[in-house]
Amino acid sequence: MEFLGLGERTIRNLTRRRKSCYTFGVSGQLIHEIIPVGMLQCNCSILGDPETHEAIVVDPGDEVERILEILRAHRLNVRAIVSTHTHIDHVGGLARLHAATKAPVLIHEADLELYRHLDIQAQFLGMRTPESMRIEDFVKEGDSVRWGGYAARVIHTPGHTPGSISLLVETGQPSEQAGADRVKPQPAKASAQAPLHAHLKTHAGELAPSREGALAAGLLVAGDTLFQGSIGRTDLWGGSMKDILRSIREKLLALPDETLVIPGHGDNTTIGAERAENPYLR
Ligand SMILES: [Zn+2]
Ligand SMILES: [Zn+2]
Repeated sequence: MEFLGLGERTIRNLTRRRKSCYTFGVSGQLIHEIIPVGMLQCNCSILGDPETHEAIVVDPGDEVERILEILRAHRLNVRAIVSTHTHIDHVGGLARLHAATKAPVLIHEADLELYRHLDIQAQFLGMRTPESMRIEDFVKEGDSVRWGGYAARVIHTPGHTPGSISLLVETGQPSEQAGADRVKPQPAKASAQAPLHAHLKTHAGELAPSREGALAAGLLVAGDTLFQGSIGRTDLWGGSMKDILRSIREKLLALPDETLVIPGHGDNTTIGAERAENPYLR
């Protein structure tokens, strides 16, 4: 079976490595829970500010109850729900999560048409069509999505789909504006980022490869554009190999090597590792 994000071999890997979830959280710093959800094990990210209790949820593809449970456990209020693109495995839970949290749902407008055809996507995969909703809020290149003291910059990375985006969380430098919104003055976050790494685990439960300073460099939620050792497929509606390679080369590889990458499926990686080893980027 092929599916929307990956080739067959990767699916087998994902299936074999299926784990309930992996998590990292550090008191006083960015909360980041990565939960593989649904049949295709899409990595849903919950990014929360433990001080303001504001959060965003990225790619709630399925298992909304589980996502809500984690939000409740951290006492997080969702400020925005973002999908990196509108393949069914990344948007299947949008309507239910929106209904439960009332948070705005954000996508790139170039993927709206694809979202309108969830029924065809579901048919393609032989699954039930999930509940859908009217999406009216769009993000584009250069926009910022803010929650608490944090912000994610939207990078338009077309190729896997026309409206694919990546989100760059510059955790080392909380935005000035967001910082000003805080109730009390905060110390700089940068100095306290390093311990985050020690807590970051891969699906397999091993410590992630050493990435000293990665959080200061940023955290990239890459959707199905860039994977560990692979890239997103481009043979589906609106896909373009030329575009995805240009997006990765010009926009993602422009980021520092230390940037931590959370792909739409499978294990995390870094920009440096993919620059050096990804066979598609030679
Ligand atoms: Zn996917
Ligand atoms: Zn996809």
